[in-house]
Amino acid sequence: MELMIISVIALTMRLHRMQLPREVVVGNENLSLLNEICKKLGFCESALIVTGPDTQDIAGRRVSDLLIDKGMDINSIIVNSSTLQEVKDVENKIEELKPQVILGVGGGTKIDVAKLSSTRQGLPFISVPTTASHDGIASSVAAIKGFNKPYSVMAQSPMAIVADTDVIIRSDYRFTASGCGDIISKFTSVRDWELAYKVKNEYYGEYAASLALMSARLITKNADLIKPRAEEGLRLVLEGLISCGVAMSIAGSSKPCSGSEHLFSHSLDLVQSNGGLHGEQCGVGTIMMAYLYDIDWKGIKGTLQKTEAPTTAEELDVEPESIIKALVQACTIRPERYTILNTKQLDYTSAKQLAKVTGVIP
Ligand SMILES: [Zn+2]
Repeated sequence: MELMIISVIALTMRLHRMQLPREVVVGNENLSLLNEICKKLGFCESALIVTGPDTQDIAGRRVSDLLIDKGMDINSIIVNSSTLQEVKDVENKIEELKPQVILGVGGGTKIDVAKLSSTRQGLPFISVPTTASHDGIASSVAAIKGFNKPYSVMAQSPMAIVADTDVIIRSDYRFTASGCGDIISKFTSVRDWELAYKVKNEYYGEYAASLALMSARLITKNADLIKPRAEEGLRLVLEGLISCGVAMSIAGSSKPCSGSEHLFSHSLDLVQSNGGLHGEQCGVGTIMMAYLYDIDWKGIKGTLQKTEAPTTAEELDVEPESIIKALVQACTIRPERYTILNTKQLDYTSAKQLAKVTGVIP
């Protein structure tokens, strides 16, 4: 009897929760499927659309009209950035209107606000991205400013993802190139996760790690297809981003997809905040972290160049000095996340050397 109780406790302690999307649709002209998807998931009455001033015109209004046409009670709220204040504003709207589901229609920031506000109010959310800029369109984590920490917080996975390539292909190609940078970063984030497992005995899941790595490998293999107005390439990027989001959901944390290269990007945001895109900065970080790992950093740089993602300080439009400072400070951003930066302990001189040798700074 005693043995049985112990084994039940052991099993309970090893319980691993995975929250995955139920419907994922990537393709052209698929916004019209939203009504059917909402119905299938049991949302036939009401929804709140979280969108931006521009994305309202690009897709928000269309989604709203489509669902109103089918007899749903639809309200929209416009958010401008992903701050805690905007999350609270959306939460107030949710409390007032009591919708069945929240739809995030827009780029990364609008989706992040929809994701966190719906989580805090205990409601499901559907992701309708209008750009392919980072894996937050499909993940369970949200990047929100105002938490006194410059990195993402846990929220919930979208219940459905509807990525319309006709809409996304019309966005600035820079966003898609940034998405490639975010996917490429899995070459080093997975290494960091493995390192934390070996050194700190942290949980490591090979399935989630393989899924994240597979996206990075597929983007590398097909980099030639990823270019402005190329639908096939865009689909690859979207599917890669969604797989990365699913990898995080399987892992139950952002670890498979966010390592030292992400710490560099968050650090750069603090050192020189110039509105650089997350994936662009992570891509540049990956080149340098790959060098520290002694893996094919030149190949990574070549892939980024093919997809027209930035690979230098100049292309990121930041000062070389900011890159060095960001490298030195990166390990202080999230001390509990063990990465290659803990073992290498970069100082000013070694950080400068790293940025120079990889061609990130002249
Ligand atoms: Zn990322």
